[in-house]
Amino acid sequence: MKKLSILGSTGSIGTQALEVISQLSEKIEVVSLAAGKNINLLKEQIKIFAPRKVSVLDKEDALKLSNEFPQTDFLYGDEGLEILSSDKDIDIVLIAVSGKIGLKPTIAAIKNKKNIALANKETLVMAGDIVMPLAKEYGVKILPVDSEHSAIFQCLNGVKPKKLIITASGGPFRNKSIEEIKSATANEALNHPRWNMGRKITIDSATLMNKGLEVIEAHHLFNMDYKDIKVVIHPQSIIHSAIEHEDGSIIAQMGLPSMHIPIQYALTYPKRIKGIESNSFDFSKIAQLTFENPDFEKFPALKIAFEAGIKGKTFPTVLNAANEEAVMAFLDGKIRLTDITEITKSVLNTHKPIENASLEQILELDEKTRKQTREIINNLLIKE
Ligand code: NDP
Ligand code: MG
Repeated sequence: MKKLSILGSTGSIGTQALEVISQLSEKIEVVSLAAGKNINLLKEQIKIFAPRKVSVLDKEDALKLSNEFPQTDFLYGDEGLEILSSDKDIDIVLIAVSGKIGLKPTIAAIKNKKNIALANKETLVMAGDIVMPLAKEYGVKILPVDSEHSAIFQCLNGVKPKKLIITASGGPFRNKSIEEIKSATANEALNHPRWNMGRKITIDSATLMNKGLEVIEAHHLFNMDYKDIKVVIHPQSIIHSAIEHEDGSIIAQMGLPSMHIPIQYALTYPKRIKGIESNSFDFSKIAQLTFENPDFEKFPALKIAFEAGIKGKTFPTVLNAANEEAVMAFLDGKIRLTDITEITKSVLNTHKPIENASLEQILELDEKTRKQTREIINNLLIKE
Protein backbone atom coordinates (compact mmCIF):
# COMPACT_ATOMS: atom_id res chain seq x y z
CA MET A 1 0.00 0.00 0.00
CA LYS A 2 1.33 3.44 -0.94
CA LYS A 3 1.85 5.82 1.96
CA LEU A 4 0.98 9.44 1.25
CA SER A 5 1.34 12.89 2.76
CA ILE A 6 -0.92 15.69 1.49
CA LEU A 7 0.27 19.26 1.93
CA GLY A 8 -2.68 21.60 1.40
CA SER A 9 -5.38 19.05 2.26
CA THR A 10 -8.10 21.68 2.78
CA GLY A 11 -7.64 23.33 -0.62
CA SER A 12 -9.19 22.62 -3.99
CA ILE A 13 -6.58 20.02 -5.00
CA GLY A 14 -6.23 18.60 -1.47
CA THR A 15 -9.95 17.96 -1.02
CA GLN A 16 -10.22 16.44 -4.50
CA ALA A 17 -7.25 14.18 -3.73
CA LEU A 18 -9.09 12.89 -0.66
CA GLU A 19 -12.19 12.29 -2.82
CA VAL A 20 -10.05 10.31 -5.26
CA ILE A 21 -8.50 8.24 -2.47
CA SER A 22 -11.92 7.49 -0.93
CA GLN A 23 -13.15 5.92 -4.16
CA LEU A 24 -10.04 4.14 -5.33
CA SER A 25 -10.13 0.39 -5.91
CA GLU A 26 -6.70 0.04 -4.21
CA LYS A 27 -6.07 1.58 -0.84
CA ILE A 28 -3.63 4.48 -0.32
CA GLU A 29 -2.75 5.22 3.28
CA VAL A 30 -3.00 8.89 4.23
CA VAL A 31 -0.10 9.12 6.67
CA SER A 32 -0.19 12.87 7.16
CA LEU A 33 -2.06 16.06 6.26
CA ALA A 34 -1.07 19.71 6.30
CA ALA A 35 -3.37 22.70 6.10
CA GLY A 36 -3.31 26.41 6.83
CA LYS A 37 -6.22 28.02 8.64
CA ASN A 38 -9.29 25.99 7.72
CA ILE A 39 -9.30 24.06 10.98
CA ASN A 40 -12.96 22.99 10.81
CA LEU A 41 -12.49 21.16 7.52
CA LEU A 42 -9.17 19.76 8.72
CA LYS A 43 -10.89 18.27 11.79
CA GLU A 44 -13.39 16.49 9.54
CA GLN A 45 -10.51 15.09 7.49
CA ILE A 46 -8.69 13.90 10.63
CA LYS A 47 -11.84 12.06 11.77
CA ILE A 48 -12.23 10.29 8.43
CA PHE A 49 -8.62 9.55 7.44
CA ALA A 50 -6.98 9.25 10.89
CA PRO A 51 -3.56 10.53 9.77
CA ARG A 52 -0.63 9.88 12.12
CA LYS A 53 0.73 13.41 11.75
CA VAL A 54 -0.87 16.76 10.95
CA SER A 55 0.65 20.19 10.40
CA VAL A 56 -1.11 23.55 10.54
CA LEU A 57 0.01 27.12 9.98
CA ASP A 58 -0.16 28.38 13.60
CA LYS A 59 1.26 26.96 16.80
CA GLU A 60 -1.91 27.85 18.72
CA ASP A 61 -4.06 25.73 16.42
CA ALA A 62 -1.59 22.84 16.72
CA LEU A 63 -1.83 22.99 20.53
CA LYS A 64 -5.64 23.10 20.54
CA LEU A 65 -5.86 20.23 18.07
CA SER A 66 -3.48 18.03 20.03
CA ASN A 67 -5.82 18.23 23.02
CA GLU A 68 -8.73 17.19 20.83
CA PHE A 69 -6.89 14.42 18.94
CA PRO A 70 -4.36 12.90 21.39
CA GLN A 71 -3.54 10.02 18.99
CA THR A 72 -2.20 12.41 16.35
CA ASP A 73 1.14 14.27 16.34
CA PHE A 74 0.71 17.96 15.52
CA LEU A 75 3.30 20.21 13.93
CA TYR A 76 3.12 23.76 12.63
CA GLY A 77 4.58 26.39 10.35
CA ASP A 78 6.99 25.99 7.42
CA GLU A 79 9.00 23.49 9.43
CA GLY A 80 5.93 21.29 9.84
CA LEU A 81 5.53 21.09 6.06
CA GLU A 82 9.18 20.09 5.61
CA ILE A 83 8.99 17.44 8.33
CA LEU A 84 5.92 15.87 6.71
CA SER A 85 7.33 15.93 3.17
CA SER A 86 10.54 14.23 4.25
CA ASP A 87 9.01 11.81 6.76
CA LYS A 88 10.46 8.28 6.72
CA ASP A 89 6.92 6.85 6.94
CA ILE A 90 5.80 8.07 3.49
CA ASP A 91 6.50 7.01 -0.12
CA ILE A 92 5.01 10.02 -1.89
CA VAL A 93 3.98 13.58 -1.05
CA LEU A 94 1.29 15.61 -2.81
CA ILE A 95 2.42 19.24 -2.87
CA ALA A 96 -0.91 21.07 -3.07
CA VAL A 97 -0.24 24.22 -1.09
CA SER A 98 -0.54 27.35 -3.19
CA GLY A 99 2.18 29.85 -3.99
CA LYS A 100 5.81 30.02 -2.94
CA ILE A 101 5.43 27.91 0.22
CA GLY A 102 5.56 24.78 -1.95
CA LEU A 103 9.26 25.15 -2.73
CA LYS A 104 10.99 24.23 0.54
CA PRO A 105 8.93 21.10 1.31
CA THR A 106 9.53 19.95 -2.28
CA ILE A 107 13.30 20.26 -1.83
CA ALA A 108 13.09 18.48 1.54
CA ALA A 109 11.15 15.63 -0.08
CA ILE A 110 13.70 15.25 -2.88
CA LYS A 111 16.64 15.19 -0.47
CA ASN A 112 14.89 12.37 1.42
CA LYS A 113 14.13 10.43 -1.76
CA LYS A 114 10.35 10.82 -1.60
CA ASN A 115 8.48 10.83 -4.88
CA ILE A 116 6.47 13.97 -5.50
CA ALA A 117 3.01 14.51 -6.94
CA LEU A 118 3.42 18.17 -7.82
CA ALA A 119 0.37 20.42 -8.10
CA ASN A 120 2.23 23.54 -6.97
CA LYS A 121 3.50 24.97 -10.27
CA GLU A 122 5.05 28.01 -8.55
CA THR A 123 7.82 25.71 -7.26
CA LEU A 124 9.09 25.03 -10.78
CA VAL A 125 8.57 28.60 -11.96
CA MET A 126 10.61 29.94 -9.04
CA ALA A 127 13.35 27.38 -9.02
CA GLY A 128 12.97 24.81 -11.80
CA ASP A 129 16.69 25.01 -12.58
CA ILE A 130 17.43 23.81 -9.04
CA VAL A 131 14.53 21.42 -8.44
CA MET A 132 14.75 19.33 -11.64
CA PRO A 133 18.50 18.55 -11.49
CA LEU A 134 18.17 17.81 -7.76
CA ALA A 135 15.35 15.35 -8.43
CA LYS A 136 17.52 13.67 -11.05
CA GLU A 137 20.46 13.50 -8.67
CA TYR A 138 18.37 11.83 -5.95
CA GLY A 139 16.46 9.58 -8.37
CA VAL A 140 13.14 11.13 -7.37
CA LYS A 141 10.11 11.20 -9.65
CA ILE A 142 8.23 14.46 -10.07
CA LEU A 143 4.77 13.42 -11.19
CA PRO A 144 2.73 16.32 -12.58
CA VAL A 145 -0.73 16.99 -11.17
CA ASP A 146 -1.47 20.10 -13.23
CA SER A 147 -3.94 18.73 -15.80
CA GLU A 148 -2.03 19.94 -18.88
CA HIS A 149 1.24 18.48 -17.66
CA SER A 150 -0.40 15.26 -16.58
CA ALA A 151 -1.87 15.04 -20.10
CA ILE A 152 1.55 15.54 -21.71
CA PHE A 153 3.13 13.07 -19.29
CA GLN A 154 0.47 10.50 -20.21
CA CYS A 155 1.03 11.10 -23.97
CA LEU A 156 4.83 10.98 -23.93
CA ASN A 157 5.49 7.31 -23.39
CA GLY A 158 9.22 7.83 -23.11
CA VAL A 159 9.70 9.56 -26.48
CA LYS A 160 10.87 13.16 -26.84
CA PRO A 161 8.28 14.96 -29.00
CA LYS A 162 8.82 17.78 -31.46
CA LYS A 163 6.30 20.08 -29.81
CA LEU A 164 4.14 20.40 -26.72
CA ILE A 165 0.65 21.79 -27.25
CA ILE A 166 -0.75 23.18 -24.04
CA THR A 167 -4.48 23.84 -24.07
CA ALA A 168 -6.16 26.67 -22.17
CA SER A 169 -9.86 27.27 -21.53
CA GLY A 170 -9.32 31.01 -22.10
CA GLY A 171 -10.83 31.90 -18.72
CA PRO A 172 -13.87 34.06 -17.94
CA PHE A 173 -12.78 37.00 -20.14
CA ARG A 174 -12.05 35.20 -23.41
CA ASN A 175 -14.84 36.99 -25.24
CA LYS A 176 -14.67 40.28 -23.36
CA SER A 177 -13.16 43.52 -24.60
CA ILE A 178 -10.02 45.05 -23.09
CA GLU A 179 -12.24 47.75 -21.52
CA GLU A 180 -14.44 45.12 -19.89
CA ILE A 181 -11.38 43.26 -18.59
CA LYS A 182 -10.02 46.53 -17.13
CA SER A 183 -13.16 47.09 -15.10
CA ALA A 184 -13.60 43.45 -14.01
CA THR A 185 -14.34 42.92 -10.32
CA ALA A 186 -12.77 40.21 -8.18
CA ASN A 187 -16.07 38.33 -8.19
CA GLU A 188 -16.21 38.32 -11.99
CA ALA A 189 -12.60 37.18 -12.20
CA LEU A 190 -13.21 34.46 -9.60
CA ASN A 191 -16.08 33.04 -11.65
CA HIS A 192 -14.18 30.61 -13.89
CA PRO A 193 -16.29 28.96 -16.60
CA ARG A 194 -14.73 25.47 -16.38
CA TRP A 195 -12.71 24.92 -13.23
CA ASN A 196 -13.40 25.38 -9.53
CA MET A 197 -10.00 26.20 -8.03
CA GLY A 198 -8.28 28.18 -5.28
CA ARG A 199 -8.40 31.99 -5.47
CA LYS A 200 -4.84 32.62 -6.62
CA ILE A 201 -4.87 30.21 -9.56
CA THR A 202 -8.37 31.39 -10.54
CA ILE A 203 -7.15 34.97 -10.92
CA ASP A 204 -4.09 33.70 -12.82
CA SER A 205 -6.51 31.90 -15.14
CA ALA A 206 -8.43 35.12 -15.74
CA THR A 207 -5.27 37.00 -16.84
CA LEU A 208 -3.83 33.90 -18.59
CA MET A 209 -0.77 34.20 -16.34
CA ASN A 210 -1.67 30.68 -15.26
CA LYS A 211 -0.97 29.48 -18.80
CA GLY A 212 2.29 31.42 -18.79
CA LEU A 213 3.34 29.76 -15.54
CA GLU A 214 2.37 26.42 -17.08
CA VAL A 215 4.58 27.05 -20.10
CA ILE A 216 7.54 27.56 -17.74
CA GLU A 217 6.46 24.50 -15.73
CA ALA A 218 6.35 22.42 -18.94
CA HIS A 219 9.79 23.69 -20.02
CA HIS A 220 11.26 22.31 -16.78
CA LEU A 221 9.25 19.10 -16.47
CA PHE A 222 9.79 17.96 -20.04
CA ASN A 223 13.08 19.68 -20.83
CA MET A 224 11.61 21.46 -23.86
CA ASP A 225 12.73 24.64 -25.58
CA TYR A 226 10.23 27.50 -25.37
CA LYS A 227 10.07 27.67 -29.18
CA ASP A 228 8.62 24.15 -29.14
CA ILE A 229 5.86 24.93 -26.64
CA LYS A 230 2.61 26.18 -28.13
CA VAL A 231 -0.53 27.39 -26.34
CA VAL A 232 -3.95 26.77 -27.90
CA ILE A 233 -7.25 28.07 -26.56
CA HIS A 234 -9.77 25.25 -26.26
CA PRO A 235 -12.81 26.53 -24.31
CA GLN A 236 -14.45 23.14 -23.69
CA SER A 237 -11.39 21.85 -21.76
CA ILE A 238 -11.83 18.28 -23.01
CA ILE A 239 -8.40 17.93 -24.58
CA HIS A 240 -6.10 18.59 -21.65
CA SER A 241 -2.97 18.98 -23.80
CA ALA A 242 -1.14 17.19 -26.59
CA ILE A 243 2.23 16.41 -28.10
CA GLU A 244 3.27 16.57 -31.72
CA HIS A 245 5.82 14.20 -33.24
CA GLU A 246 8.27 14.82 -36.05
CA ASP A 247 6.05 12.95 -38.53
CA GLY A 248 3.06 15.21 -37.80
CA SER A 249 1.22 12.76 -35.58
CA ILE A 250 -0.56 14.43 -32.65
CA ILE A 251 -1.29 12.54 -29.44
CA ALA A 252 -3.74 14.17 -27.06
CA GLN A 253 -5.18 13.22 -23.68
CA MET A 254 -8.91 13.72 -23.12
CA GLY A 255 -11.37 13.66 -20.28
CA LEU A 256 -14.05 15.79 -18.65
CA PRO A 257 -12.78 19.02 -17.06
CA SER A 258 -11.97 17.50 -13.68
CA MET A 259 -8.78 17.33 -11.65
CA HIS A 260 -9.63 13.86 -10.36
CA ILE A 261 -7.85 11.94 -13.13
CA PRO A 262 -4.59 13.92 -13.09
CA ILE A 263 -4.51 13.70 -9.29
CA GLN A 264 -5.24 9.97 -9.36
CA TYR A 265 -2.65 9.21 -12.03
CA ALA A 266 0.08 11.00 -10.06
CA LEU A 267 -0.87 9.02 -6.94
CA THR A 268 -1.21 5.59 -8.54
CA TYR A 269 1.52 5.95 -11.21
CA PRO A 270 2.47 3.81 -13.06
CA LYS A 271 -0.78 1.92 -12.44
CA ARG A 272 -4.16 2.65 -13.99
CA ILE A 273 -6.88 1.59 -11.58
CA LYS A 274 -10.61 2.00 -11.14
CA GLY A 275 -11.53 5.30 -9.54
CA ILE A 276 -13.90 8.21 -9.16
CA GLU A 277 -13.91 9.13 -12.89
CA SER A 278 -14.06 5.62 -14.32
CA ASN A 279 -16.87 5.54 -16.94
CA SER A 280 -17.45 9.33 -16.68
CA PHE A 281 -16.75 10.18 -20.34
CA ASP A 282 -19.35 9.83 -23.12
CA PHE A 283 -18.35 10.99 -26.62
CA SER A 284 -21.99 11.37 -27.67
CA LYS A 285 -22.44 14.07 -24.99
CA ILE A 286 -19.56 16.22 -26.31
CA ALA A 287 -21.19 18.56 -28.81
CA GLN A 288 -18.06 20.19 -30.21
CA LEU A 289 -14.39 20.82 -29.64
CA THR A 290 -13.10 24.20 -30.81
CA PHE A 291 -9.65 25.74 -30.92
CA GLU A 292 -8.21 29.22 -31.43
CA ASN A 293 -4.93 31.04 -30.96
CA PRO A 294 -4.44 33.04 -27.76
CA ASP A 295 -4.82 36.82 -27.98
CA PHE A 296 -1.50 38.14 -26.66
CA GLU A 297 -2.71 41.77 -26.86
CA LYS A 298 -5.71 41.15 -24.68
CA PHE A 299 -3.79 38.82 -22.36
CA PRO A 300 -0.24 40.24 -22.16
CA ALA A 301 0.52 38.07 -19.11
CA LEU A 302 1.02 35.08 -21.37
CA LYS A 303 3.50 37.09 -23.45
CA ILE A 304 5.54 38.34 -20.50
CA ALA A 305 5.66 34.84 -19.02
CA PHE A 306 7.01 33.43 -22.30
CA GLU A 307 9.56 36.25 -22.40
CA ALA A 308 10.63 35.67 -18.79
CA GLY A 309 10.97 31.95 -19.50
CA ILE A 310 13.07 32.51 -22.61
CA LYS A 311 15.35 34.95 -20.77
CA GLY A 312 15.64 32.33 -18.04
CA LYS A 313 18.06 32.80 -15.11
CA THR A 314 16.11 34.51 -12.31
CA PHE A 315 13.48 36.21 -14.51
CA PRO A 316 10.86 33.51 -13.83
CA THR A 317 11.47 33.86 -10.06
CA VAL A 318 10.71 37.57 -10.34
CA LEU A 319 7.70 36.96 -12.59
CA ASN A 320 6.26 34.57 -10.03
CA ALA A 321 6.83 36.78 -6.98
CA ALA A 322 5.60 40.03 -8.57
CA ASN A 323 2.53 38.31 -10.00
CA GLU A 324 1.63 36.62 -6.70
CA GLU A 325 1.83 39.92 -4.79
CA ALA A 326 -0.16 41.76 -7.47
CA VAL A 327 -2.85 39.03 -7.46
CA MET A 328 -3.22 39.43 -3.68
CA ALA A 329 -3.53 43.22 -4.11
CA PHE A 330 -6.24 42.70 -6.75
CA LEU A 331 -8.13 40.33 -4.46
CA ASP A 332 -7.87 42.98 -1.71
CA GLY A 333 -9.48 45.49 -4.09
CA LYS A 334 -6.35 47.65 -4.30
CA ILE A 335 -5.66 47.41 -8.05
CA ARG A 336 -7.45 46.55 -11.29
CA LEU A 337 -7.16 43.16 -12.96
CA THR A 338 -5.08 44.57 -15.82
CA ASP A 339 -2.72 46.23 -13.31
CA ILE A 340 -1.51 42.77 -12.25
CA THR A 341 0.33 42.24 -15.52
CA GLU A 342 1.39 45.89 -15.86
CA ILE A 343 2.97 45.86 -12.42
CA THR A 344 4.61 42.46 -12.97
CA LYS A 345 6.04 43.72 -16.25
CA SER A 346 7.47 46.87 -14.66
CA VAL A 347 9.14 44.80 -11.92
CA LEU A 348 10.63 42.45 -14.54
CA ASN A 349 11.96 45.45 -16.47
CA THR A 350 14.10 46.52 -13.51
CA HIS A 351 15.46 43.04 -12.81
CA LYS A 352 19.19 42.34 -12.96
CA PRO A 353 19.40 38.57 -13.37
CA ILE A 354 21.59 36.28 -11.27
CA GLU A 355 23.50 33.52 -13.08
CA ASN A 356 23.18 30.01 -11.59
CA ALA A 357 21.33 31.34 -8.53
CA SER A 358 21.45 29.21 -5.39
CA LEU A 359 18.31 28.36 -3.42
CA GLU A 360 19.23 31.01 -0.84
CA GLN A 361 19.62 33.64 -3.59
CA ILE A 362 16.26 32.66 -5.06
CA LEU A 363 14.49 32.91 -1.71
CA GLU A 364 16.15 36.28 -1.05
CA LEU A 365 15.21 37.56 -4.51
CA ASP A 366 11.65 36.35 -3.99
CA GLU A 367 11.37 38.40 -0.77
CA LYS A 368 12.98 41.45 -2.35
CA THR A 369 10.69 41.29 -5.38
CA ARG A 370 7.60 41.00 -3.22
CA LYS A 371 8.65 44.06 -1.24
CA GLN A 372 9.35 46.01 -4.43
CA THR A 373 5.95 45.00 -5.85
CA ARG A 374 4.12 46.06 -2.68
CA GLU A 375 5.90 49.42 -2.81
CA ILE A 376 4.81 49.97 -6.42
CA ILE A 377 1.23 49.11 -5.45
CA ASN A 378 1.31 51.44 -2.43
CA ASN A 379 2.65 54.28 -4.58
CA LEU A 380 -0.16 53.73 -7.07
CA LEU A 381 -2.67 53.93 -4.22
CA ILE A 382 -1.14 57.18 -2.92
CA LYS A 383 -1.29 58.76 -6.40
CA GLU A 384 -4.97 57.90 -6.71
P1 NDP B 1 -6.20 26.47 -2.56
O1 NDP B 1 -6.01 27.89 -2.23
O2 NDP B 1 -7.57 25.95 -2.78
O3 NDP B 1 -5.53 25.56 -1.42
C1 NDP B 1 -4.29 25.84 -0.85
C2 NDP B 1 -4.03 24.89 0.30
O4 NDP B 1 -2.80 25.24 0.90
C3 NDP B 1 -5.07 24.94 1.42
O5 NDP B 1 -5.20 23.67 1.98
C4 NDP B 1 -4.43 25.91 2.40
O6 NDP B 1 -4.87 25.74 3.73
C5 NDP B 1 -2.99 25.45 2.29
N1 NDP B 1 -2.03 26.45 2.76
C6 NDP B 1 -1.93 27.73 2.34
N2 NDP B 1 -0.93 28.34 3.02
C7 NDP B 1 -0.41 27.41 3.87
C8 NDP B 1 0.65 27.42 4.82
N3 NDP B 1 1.40 28.51 5.00
N4 NDP B 1 0.90 26.29 5.49
C9 NDP B 1 0.17 25.18 5.27
N5 NDP B 1 -0.84 25.11 4.39
C10 NDP B 1 -1.12 26.22 3.70
O7 NDP B 1 -5.28 26.18 -3.84
P2 NDP B 1 -5.47 25.09 -4.97
O8 NDP B 1 -5.78 23.77 -4.37
O9 NDP B 1 -6.36 25.61 -6.02
O10 NDP B 1 -4.02 25.07 -5.60
C11 NDP B 1 -2.92 24.46 -4.95
C12 NDP B 1 -1.74 24.42 -5.91
O11 NDP B 1 -2.09 23.56 -6.99
C13 NDP B 1 -1.42 25.78 -6.53
O12 NDP B 1 -0.04 25.92 -6.65
C14 NDP B 1 -2.08 25.73 -7.90
O13 NDP B 1 -1.40 26.49 -8.86
C15 NDP B 1 -1.97 24.24 -8.22
N6 NDP B 1 -3.02 23.76 -9.13
C16 NDP B 1 -4.34 23.82 -8.78
C17 NDP B 1 -5.33 23.39 -9.64
C18 NDP B 1 -6.77 23.39 -9.22
O14 NDP B 1 -7.62 22.89 -9.98
N7 NDP B 1 -7.13 23.91 -8.07
C19 NDP B 1 -4.99 22.89 -10.97
C20 NDP B 1 -3.60 22.85 -11.24
C21 NDP B 1 -2.64 23.28 -10.35
P3 NDP B 1 -6.15 26.52 4.38
O15 NDP B 1 -7.19 26.62 3.29
O16 NDP B 1 -6.52 25.57 5.47
O17 NDP B 1 -5.68 27.82 4.87
MG1 MG C 1 -3.45 23.63 -15.41
